[in-house]
Formats: sequence, C-alpha cells, structure tokens
Amino acid sequence: MTHPPRHLADLALAERRAAVTELGEKPFRADQLSRHYFARYTDVPQDMTDLPTGLRATLAAELLPRLLTPEKELTCDNGATRKMLWRLYDGALVESVLMKYPDRVTMCVSSQAGCGMGCPFCATGQAGLTRNLSTAEIVAQVVAGERTLTAESAPAAAPTATSRISNIVFMGMGEPLANYKNLIGAVHRLSDPVPSGLGISQRSLTVSTVGLVPAIHRLTEEKLTVRLAVSLHAPDDEARDELVPVNRRWKVAEVLDAAWDYAAATGRRVSIEYALIRDINDQPWRADLLGSLLKGHLAHVNLIPLNPTPGSKWTASRPGVQEEFVRRIASHGVPVTVRDTRGREIDGACGQLAATVTGRSVGPARKAGSHLLPLA
Ligand code: SAH
Ligand code: SF4
Repeated sequence: MTHPPRHLADLALAERRAAVTELGEKPFRADQLSRHYFARYTDVPQDMTDLPTGLRATLAAELLPRLLTPEKELTCDNGATRKMLWRLYDGALVESVLMKYPDRVTMCVSSQAGCGMGCPFCATGQAGLTRNLSTAEIVAQVVAGERTLTAESAPAAAPTATSRISNIVFMGMGEPLANYKNLIGAVHRLSDPVPSGLGISQRSLTVSTVGLVPAIHRLTEEKLTVRLAVSLHAPDDEARDELVPVNRRWKVAEVLDAAWDYAAATGRRVSIEYALIRDINDQPWRADLLGSLLKGHLAHVNLIPLNPTPGSKWTASRPGVQEEFVRRIASHGVPVTVRDTRGREIDGACGQLAATVTGRSVGPARKAGSHLLPLA
C-alpha cells in the first residue's frame, strides 16, 4: 500500500527543520514554510515572497504537496453551512463541513476514508473502511476551511469571532480512535501555536468515539485537554449490541468507566451522543436508565434526531417522544440538549455525498444518513 505524500503537517517543527536541512537549506526555511501554511493558509509558491524565487517551488513540492482536490461543494442555510467533498491522492473521498454561527465557526472533519465499525444507522459505516487519513490529510481539511473563511471576509476587515475556525469536531467520516497515531498528530498540529501548528485551543477540539475502551484509556494518558464525545446510543447492552457492533467487545459499563476516567483526568464534561431512533432506543425506560447511569458524573447528553440512510427501516423519533426523552434525562439532573439539524436540507447529504460520486448510492440522494452535523 502506498502512503499519502509527505507534508509538513505530518511533521513536528523540529522534523520539518531536519527535512529542510536534508534538502541543503537553512532550517529557518521550515519556519517560513510553516507560517505560510498555518498562518496564511497558503501552499502556493508565488505567495511565498519571503523565500528566494528559485527555492519556492522546490520547497513547496517537497513539503507542501496538495493533498485534497475539491470534488463537490454544497451550501445551505444561506451559505452558513458548507459541505465539502474532497478527493485524496489515491482517489479516496472524504467529507468535511464548515458551520457558521453568529458567535463561532465549527468545522467537522473526517479522520478516515469510510469506517470499519459498521454501525447500521450510519451511511459511512455501511460503506466500510477504505483507509486511515494521514495527519496532514486531517489538518488540510481545517486549513481549507480557514482559507474559505479568509476568502469570504473583506481583505482589510478587522478579525471577528467568525473570521477563523473556533471549534473542530472529529465527527465526519471515520472512527478517530481507530486512527490513533494520526489523530494525536492532528490534535497537536491543530493546537500547537504558529509556526508549529494552527494555534486552535485544544479545549475547542472534540474527539468523538464509538467507544474503543483501550484507546480512550490511552487518550486519557496523553494529558490533552480535548473534549471527549462518546457515541452511546443506548444505555443497555441489548440495544447497543445491535446499534453499535463494537459493544459486543466493550460493554456500556466499560465504555462509561473509561469516559469517567477521562473526565476525572481532564476535568472536562464528556458529551454522551445519542441518536434517537423511533421505537428502537427512544422508550421512556431507556431515558430513565440513561439518566440514572449518568447521574452525578461529569456528563452532558447530546440527542441527535436520526437522519435516516436510504433504504433504512429506521427513522427519527416522534416529536412528543423526543420531548419526553429529554424531560426524563433532565429529571435526573443530567444536562441534555438536542443537536440542531443544520445542513439536512442539502440534497446528497454527508456520507451520501461520497456515495453518489462513487456510484455506491442505493437510494435518492437526499437527506441521507448525514452525521456531519453540529453540536447543539
Ligand atoms: N465514529 C465516531 C465519529 C464520527 S460519527 C463516532 O461514531 O462517534 C459522528 C456522530 O454522528 C456519532 O455520534 C454517530 O453516532 C452519529 N451518526 C452517525 N450516523 C448518524 C445518522 N444517520 N443520524 C444521526 N446521527 C448519526
Ligand atoms: Fe463509524 Fe461513527 Fe459511523 Fe459508527 S457512527 S460507523 S463509528 S462513523
């Protein structure tokens, strides 16, 4: 198997300096290149006017290869939500979403092309895993988002709360903790200050996991301050075994124990993700069980109305049922919100957007299985 081309975002700053030295150049050239990429979001040699003309193309070719080619772009919510489909060097497709709010900008990124976890309600899960993304392929999605924001703002305008990406969620395609090493690399590149990285606070990054217990423990040991989201979807093993097949390996109790360890180590509230599926996991007793499991822990429940995949037998809960579910969780003193469904009206929504391009689509390309949705 070949690898994506080496990119400076795969390397720590010291490694970039070493790479530049190997090319016969002074180490500070690595810092200059890094500033172009992480502060100006450019990889175009002509933009690099602080580098000798003869050197620009060589260094860019060595350390700033283009990793993402735009394949398709869709906007909705009057341009506030923008979904991007990217083609990688080997033809694999991944999606990311940029969501603008009045006071912040959230970017949802993919960590893998496809996903091997097989959750039956998820469009990405149904297509299986193509491959892990490299650290630089993850980071490049965010840099592309920053570039879009910069292009949209007036050149001389003073920076505002929405002129840069403020939050990043690893809720696009893939299971981030199944691509552990490259995920950790990406967290560092996104959060390290310029010129090492993009300088986005770790506290503003959310890693969402299906519940890979050993990897959650490992993440706890990293001593990072990223937020952890756990996709629980059921408080009992019977339902979770079906909705989240990895539950057959790591049960609800083990997943929650790992989450509480993470919360204790970081002091950060864990977000419990729960896609509400009509008559499958939305019964009042399940809300009560969930509330009692989470009560007294550093947790917050984020309910997601199911976005059905084409041909799926499952659909979202009835509104009254959803409200009752919220009410019951809250009655245990557990904070709960319902995720907004931004971006859903886009035809060929996420997961499906990739499927339509590869011809894997099995149904009409609309409202399909998107999980690239913002946190509430
Ligand atoms: N693999 C990771 C992160 C990507 S999925 C995880 O599972 O946590 C991001 C979120 O979208 C998860 O909470 C996932 O369960 C949810 N999701 C996936 N498909 C969905 C759908 N069709 N409707 C609503 N939420 C969905
Ligand atoms: Fe993978 Fe997450 Fe989809 Fe499950 S919900 S198949 S873990 S992307």
